[in-house]
Amino acid sequence: MSEIFALVPAAGCGSRMGSELPKQYLSMAGQPMIYHALATLCASPDVSNVFVVLAPDDVYWHRYDWSLFGEKLQPLFCGGATRAESVLNGLMAAELELDDWLLVHDAARPCLSHKQLARLIEALRDDEVGGILAVPVADTLKRADAECRIVHTENREGVWQAQTPQMFRTGLLLQALRTAPNVTDDASAVEALGFHPKLVTSSYSNFKVTYPQDIELAELLLAQRK
Ligand code: C5P
Repeated sequence: MSEIFALVPAAGCGSRMGSELPKQYLSMAGQPMIYHALATLCASPDVSNVFVVLAPDDVYWHRYDWSLFGEKLQPLFCGGATRAESVLNGLMAAELELDDWLLVHDAARPCLSHKQLARLIEALRDDEVGGILAVPVADTLKRADAECRIVHTENREGVWQAQTPQMFRTGLLLQALRTAPNVTDDASAVEALGFHPKLVTSSYSNFKVTYPQDIELAELLLAQRK
């Protein structure tokens, strides 16, 4: 039977946060940010191992205590120049079976809940293609010109915001990322092969920490769960 693994690309530097320390290590609720997503992934009884893809020259990982996660957590120092390259390098280093499932989750989404993760796995484990957590767009969308003036209002019907985890079979993901290396998420690479990944409804709490003010919001959400 195929197993389910998780892979967290964490080889970025998070330049939009305006900090020297890479985003995944910024302090959040008493731990480096990445700790929170790893805790949720490692706690899942469905997930066999959690791989973290770090930059080859990462000097921060060993400064923290990861012992709570035991052998289930496996750091791989093979990150690449882009997110897609980091995922691809991690996939090759992890040496999984081609029909194993892989959950790719961004280190910058610390508020992933146990319920959202379980729901994604439940919805997709028998799926032909795989899919992603996502939320329908709630705000009205404006198309802007170079002067930040509205050109027109976009039709938001059927428009969703992609989140992670994104869950695909290892073989399909390898093929997809090799074919389309310039994508910003894994689903785009799978779509480029002509497949239609499933959207599994999530919530806004699984947002991506991008700007400094996002940290406070994430801490509030994490505190509510305790
Ligand atoms: O920069 P952004 O927030 O889009 O990055 C999404 C995820 O991809 C982060 O977890 C980041 O660490 C990771 N990443 C990576 N290798 C890169 C660039 C980003 O693993 N070269």
